[in-house]
Amino acid sequence: MTCNLGVPGSIPGDGSRIRWRPILGRFPSGQRGQTVNLLAYAFEGSNPSLPITSSLSRRFFLFQPFGGTMNDQDSLPDFCFECTACSFCCSGAPGYVWLSREDLDRLLTYLELEQAAFIQNYCRWIKTGEGKALSLQEKKSGEATYDCIFLKHGKCSVYPARPLQCRTYPFWSEIVTTKKGWEEESHSCPGIGRGSSVPRKQIEDYLTARRNHRRLYYPL
Ligand code: SF4
Repeated sequence: MTCNLGVPGSIPGDGSRIRWRPILGRFPSGQRGQTVNLLAYAFEGSNPSLPITSSLSRRFFLFQPFGGTMNDQDSLPDFCFECTACSFCCSGAPGYVWLSREDLDRLLTYLELEQAAFIQNYCRWIKTGEGKALSLQEKKSGEATYDCIFLKHGKCSVYPARPLQCRTYPFWSEIVTTKKGWEEESHSCPGIGRGSSVPRKQIEDYLTARRNHRRLYYPL
């Protein structure tokens, strides 16, 4: 397939493939005083009060609404994508990388760490409508910019074990369900519009995985 999408600012990669996806937003308060031993599950994106963002900044939105499907196939682009390893999606404006039980277990195995130590050193609890959800920490890297805690020397240091949120970017429902969404995201991700077309089946699999992704929560 031919890719006609104009892509600004392509930056040559160094071999790493970094896909970290933060979220901007306002979160309702959760209950205080609970402990990290009280892990529970909730569907990702089940809080309608969380905003869907503009993608004009390098770091994006966090919230993927349920039910995103690629219905209007004829009007959709070819979804050409090739990561340039620019790490734009791992740094910039503040954001969140939500963890599921599977994400957490994968990272614990990869880093050979106990859960309590991992959460203390690499995670933070974020108040949401459902309670406190587990997200990766970030580190300040500039005046108003932040890096993912696992971004080291421009590369993802846990790449083989990176969370689902990262491994499915940019094939998120809010990006791929409309041509406009895909084109707008190209301003944030120079990998969009490069390389060959990603099969529609693979994108649907990413969307399904995202729909089934459940953040780790404290129970309220
Ligand atoms: S090309 Fe896109 S997916 Fe790859 S590191 Fe850059 S912003 Fe992230």
